[in-house]
Amino acid sequence: METIELRGCLEDELIEICKENGLKRFRASQLFQWVQQKTVRTWEEMKNIGDRDRQILRSRLSLYPLGKVREQRSEDGTRKYLFRLNDGETIECVLMDYERTRSRDRHTVCVSTQVGCAVGCAFCATGLQGLQRNLSVGEIAGQVLDITHYVRQEDPDFQVTNIVFMGMGEPLLNYDQVLKAIQLLNHEQGQNIGMRRMTISTCGVVPRIIQLAKDNPQVGLAVSLHTAQDEVRNDLIPMNRRYPLDQLMAACREYTHVTRRRITFEVALTTENARREEAEALARLLNGQFGHVNLIPVNPVVGTGMERPNPEQIKRFAQVLEDAGISVSSREERGADIDAACGQLRRLWEGEL
Ligand code: SAH
Ligand code: SF4
Repeated sequence: METIELRGCLEDELIEICKENGLKRFRASQLFQWVQQKTVRTWEEMKNIGDRDRQILRSRLSLYPLGKVREQRSEDGTRKYLFRLNDGETIECVLMDYERTRSRDRHTVCVSTQVGCAVGCAFCATGLQGLQRNLSVGEIAGQVLDITHYVRQEDPDFQVTNIVFMGMGEPLLNYDQVLKAIQLLNHEQGQNIGMRRMTISTCGVVPRIIQLAKDNPQVGLAVSLHTAQDEVRNDLIPMNRRYPLDQLMAACREYTHVTRRRITFEVALTTENARREEAEALARLLNGQFGHVNLIPVNPVVGTGMERPNPEQIKRFAQVLEDAGISVSSREERGADIDAACGQLRRLWEGEL
């Protein structure tokens, strides 16, 4: 009989499996809490489940913790992990701003949703690798569980508080798995992370943005806009040829209409696009849209030829948006000293391994 991935199961599914196998219902709650809340990685650690029941459960369920291949620590508190999956593929996962003394109340994890990515954006190290496969529900939620497990070895009270689906891959092209992982991470007997503390980032998969508004209006949405011009965006983000800006903005309007939620628009600035005309075009595009612009200096990736603008250029760009009444923030790329742009590390390390 084929086994089911334990870390991808909701409590109700575990109750069903226990029932089918003649086990008591409370076993399901115990199992769920061991993996989802206490982040244990082996059957042996589940102390309150007796040998006989454990044998039965093991024959139906598989437990695949992610293996830590590498960990890098940045001076600013960012930690970057390279995890190995059960079939040997690797993914990246980042814990942002983690420090023992500061920001004790906010620990954000940047989660991957696919191995590689089919979209192929011009500036993205993950895009350069193509798509290997989708991640399973257990592998998506498992990144949060395993980071928690590793950090708790040094800091037993550690708890992830926020999640951004901004790692490798396009979350809306692995839609069902990502939504189920969100449900798992939100579960109160598990990590209990609020829906509003999780954000999905997309390059603009229009039909899925509209569907997301209906399926989960609570979770946050970030749209990787980068430019307000179709000709430029076609080259940067090939998805734009399928869903150009007018369709994308219509989907964003519908999303805010249904959810009443503000969208974050990500704009990576390069020496090319950090110009006044670009900022003005962006201000026109976002006129009337309930949103917030997040400016990020591009993280230079070998082979893309893109460079960061200087802080003065970024400031001027932000000013144009602000003058047009658009809410804007700019942040320094985190973990810049450890190649934190997702996909970069895997590319570097895979070359060495
Ligand atoms: N596929 C989704 C989520 C993963 S990418 C998306 O595209 O939104 C997460 C974010 O990192 C996106 O905003 C993406 O545009 C940005 N990004 C990718 N490569 C980058 C780089 N080299 N520098 C700065 N941002 C980058
Ligand atoms: Fe894929 Fe996002 Fe990278 Fe584009 S930026 S290639 S959509 S992961």
